[in-house]
Amino acid sequence: MTNLWDKYLSSDEEKINNLITNYKYFLNHGKTERECISQVIKKAEEQGFKSLDYYITNKIKIESGSKIYVENMHKAIALFVIGKDDIEMGMNILGVHIDSPRIDLKATPLYEKENLAYFNTHYYGGIKKYQWVTLPLAMHGVIVKKDGTMINLNIGENLAEPLFCITDLLPHLAQKQLQKEGNNIIEGENLDILIGSKPVKNSKDCNLVKENILKILQEKYNIEEEDFISSEIEFVPAGEARDCGLDKSLVMGYGQDDRVCAYTSIEAFFNVENPPKTISCILVDKEEIGSVGASSMKSKFYLDAIDEICSLMNKPLPITTSRILKNSKMLSSDVNAAYDPLYANVMDKATASYLNKGVVFCKYTGSQGKSNSNDANAEFLAHIRKIMDDAKISYQVSELGKVDIGGGGTIAYILANENVEVIDCGIAILNMHAPWEITSKIDIYEVYKCYLTFLKNA
Ligand code: MN
Ligand code: MN
Repeated sequence: MTNLWDKYLSSDEEKINNLITNYKYFLNHGKTERECISQVIKKAEEQGFKSLDYYITNKIKIESGSKIYVENMHKAIALFVIGKDDIEMGMNILGVHIDSPRIDLKATPLYEKENLAYFNTHYYGGIKKYQWVTLPLAMHGVIVKKDGTMINLNIGENLAEPLFCITDLLPHLAQKQLQKEGNNIIEGENLDILIGSKPVKNSKDCNLVKENILKILQEKYNIEEEDFISSEIEFVPAGEARDCGLDKSLVMGYGQDDRVCAYTSIEAFFNVENPPKTISCILVDKEEIGSVGASSMKSKFYLDAIDEICSLMNKPLPITTSRILKNSKMLSSDVNAAYDPLYANVMDKATASYLNKGVVFCKYTGSQGKSNSNDANAEFLAHIRKIMDDAKISYQVSELGKVDIGGGGTIAYILANENVEVIDCGIAILNMHAPWEITSKIDIYEVYKCYLTFLKNA
């Protein structure tokens, strides 16, 4: 297949540039699940969406044209636009995750060692630990006080603010370290974050550096040490998403797995007017740790939301929900490992996904015997081929890595278990799960067009 950049006319350039500018803004202001969700809610409300609670409290009937969003625990959201057709005919659903690998804090994180203060951490998701040392890190998240007051933290993105770092050993003294297996070069317990070195003045206590840090936390942010018990603090790479390459054809940024699919899904979703079928978009948390918990795709919140919508449409339960799900189609989107010529031996060239070749469809994920994968139906794939070809969307079909090497989970199987037709879909990415990931601008544009086509025509 040819390089997509060949296919584009100069008239597309402005559209691509606008999309990418807004995408980079979304990444820069969405480095945690909560930050992504608040951006999406803001946009939804501007577009006339109302929360499901609003419909319920005000006993507003849901009908064709209704725009509804359901937020779950500030870390997941589902959106619906009710179509002209009977909702029992099913929905066209886009699903993505918005959590990304990062460094989380332990429950009582603050400690001092030899006059240096640190945060003790527990990393989140599948990372190569050695990639996360000696980088500028920023502190994002929330602390909830006992009275329920929420303190939002975002420290390290602005040049005037400090940033943070996990230190590493100098090469001169690292002979033994460098002989270790890659996974142990940096131990998980050593991924602690340096946060200070200055002692508090005029005190006789020990741990004066830690005391000084506590003083700053108290004075500047109204945070007590015990407040960390009820916090969700994420340390993420500090800095903005930027163009990558002399030709500026790529985007380098943190958290593109899977916010690249989240952004393009939302953008396409908000751009569909008066859909024939009901359309829905789901952004969930906790995919990187196995889709478990209340804010994950496995949470009941999505199915409950459909139940609530049915009852506000005076439809009988639970039969309507089952019918809706049975007739629904879903693109479960996630990033796919882009073919990297420098690491060709782990890929099967024939089924790898490539940068600049458009949307990636994956009939099944999993590995070593398709273990735990959602294997999409041939009939559904035929339907997808038809609508994508009719709309001239460029796509590639692929698997993640060689048969006995590859594999990775997605959220696809979860709604498939509820009897929805689901296929894995997404975009090729380099450096997956590294602090800075790389995608292609032209692929992002193509994925956006693919979602528009699916929502309108599936
Ligand atoms: Mn992912
Ligand atoms: Mn991932």
